[in-house]
Amino acid sequence: DPRLQAISQAIRVVPHFPKQGIMFQDITTLLLDHSAFKDVVDIFVDRYRDMDISVVAGVEARGFIFGSSIALGIGAKFVPLCKPGKLPGEVISEKYVLEYGTDCLEMHVGAVQHNERVIIIDDLVATGGTLSAAIILLERADAEVVECACVIGLSDLKVRSKLNGKPLYILVEPR
Ligand code: 5GP
Repeated sequence: DPRLQAISQAIRVVPHFPKQGIMFQDITTLLLDHSAFKDVVDIFVDRYRDMDISVVAGVEARGFIFGSSIALGIGAKFVPLCKPGKLPGEVISEKYVLEYGTDCLEMHVGAVQHNERVIIIDDLVATGGTLSAAIILLERADAEVVECACVIGLSDLKVRSKLNGKPLYILVEPR
């Protein structure tokens, strides 16, 4: 797809953020480029519009940006998966392990119905820990996770193309 090169180039790489040795993939520069941002959303919308998806779940915070746009484009509802303590209603929570310590994703009870078909969106997949927790959370709510999708992912993940047995769709590799 000829659009992918411009998308990749619109992502800024910030060395040593948030700590020494990390090459941070900064998608805020992609959001400044209307054409590249629109191409990202269009590619996902074209992929998912005829797959009978009724829910787009986005991972806080950057998954909200892409996920809500995709939800509008395919005519699905948007469900935020949040860091602890951000959602005001009753939640279900799923803890997951990070390199140092643990984190947690929460979702409102009743946000998805039994057997609804869901895609999960984030900006970037690294180890897959975040998306795996998101899959478990949705499955605990009896939703059917159809696929996870990210703008950026490592090539070995792309080759594997699976996460907890679920397909993983990636647009570009880290630069
Ligand atoms: P994982 O759980 O797959 O190891 O990490 C993915 C999560 O960390 C995503 O929610 C993603 O937003 C965040 N993340 C990790 N590294 C980066 C990075 O370099 N750039 C951006 N934008 N997000 C990152």
